[in-house]
Amino acid sequence: MKQVIYLDNAATTRTRPEVVEAMVPYFSEHYGNPSSVYEFSTPSKQVIAKTREIIGKSLGARPNEIYFTAGGTESDNWAIKAVAEAYETKGRHIITSKIEHHAVLHTCEYLEKKRGFEVTYLDVDENGTVKIEELKKAIRPDTILISIMFANNEIGTIEPVKEIGQIAKEHGILFHTDAVQAYGHVPINVDEYHIDMLSASGHKLNGPKGIGFLYIRTGLKLRSFVHGGAQERKRRGGTENVPGIAGLGKAVEMAMDTMEKRSHKERELRDYLIERVMAEVSFVRLNGHKSNRLSNNANFAFQFVEGESLLIMLDMNGICGSSGSACTSGSLDPSHVLLAIGLPHEIAHGSLRLTLNEENTREEMDYVVEKIKEIVDRLRAMSPLYEDFMKKSQA
Ligand code: PLP
Repeated sequence: MKQVIYLDNAATTRTRPEVVEAMVPYFSEHYGNPSSVYEFSTPSKQVIAKTREIIGKSLGARPNEIYFTAGGTESDNWAIKAVAEAYETKGRHIITSKIEHHAVLHTCEYLEKKRGFEVTYLDVDENGTVKIEELKKAIRPDTILISIMFANNEIGTIEPVKEIGQIAKEHGILFHTDAVQAYGHVPINVDEYHIDMLSASGHKLNGPKGIGFLYIRTGLKLRSFVHGGAQERKRRGGTENVPGIAGLGKAVEMAMDTMEKRSHKERELRDYLIERVMAEVSFVRLNGHKSNRLSNNANFAFQFVEGESLLIMLDMNGICGSSGSACTSGSLDPSHVLLAIGLPHEIAHGSLRLTLNEENTREEMDYVVEKIKEIVDRLRAMSPLYEDFMKKSQA
């Protein structure tokens, strides 16, 4: 396989060898069904209990408030749909933001279109931060849920979660946060932040794919999300993904132990990358909050450049990044996040997200900057818009 410089850690991360090692025995040796009564199943039961404990401790929560799911998308769906169902007699209004992940946005749209709920999608400022005053104004007597992400997956901006949680609490409204990008990367305490529900996913913190969890505060009257057996305290039936849970436990343990050192290293490298790109490339802007952002996130918008072409050419040079265009949906609409922070379509189209990990090096960043400069120059040389712009500015 050709050598790659992997800068798409917001999409997914490498499963750590220690995590893989922790999973293997639960495929081969301890494969007993955790619901079975015989002793052979004890290791399966034990690893589930241990992971619940590790995650509970990481959030300042109790182990029995952690419910395993298949990942972030399922956790978001569960949290929002379950609150809507359980509290609809109290009210049918939900508040979220315009920059949420589609797992939240499409769930809210479903509730609006098919279930008669009303949803307020809050604007954000030019950095992607939810406006607290707007949140306060949006609250109504029938508001049952506020769902705001902890940190944005595209531009990395960290939201004022503590303030949002406090406001929700004061108004007796439940607060869910999609912490898929933040959990394992920044410290989170559910009591301190007044979080009632929190979604997280294993593959964003060097754990396995297809496993995640939903934290549900004790006392919330939510019915089963998946009907079936008695697993997950009867709220999510189905035989547990025991190897995945074992891997998640190991990944969380390692993420918590290394968080400070890791984010320091990522931030240093990320800032070096940002400084060089901003200084050495013309007509570029950094998207997202300057300082209040995830330590590994850099998101640029290059004027007069088509983001998809930039990505393809970076790929030809062994560099994995991502753009804000919804190319996977078959359209080339710019990202809803970049539009929400006020970027015009043509600039949003020239976006590039690079998300680092602690294994990246300064030499890699140097190579990436050189390639960006080279490719941006080449693409601009082919752009009639750029030619026009340059002619006018020289006239
Ligand atoms: N929420 C956010 C903020 C994400 O970034 C993602 C994945 O990119 C998800 C939810 C979905 O998580 P999963 O891939 O585990 O379903």
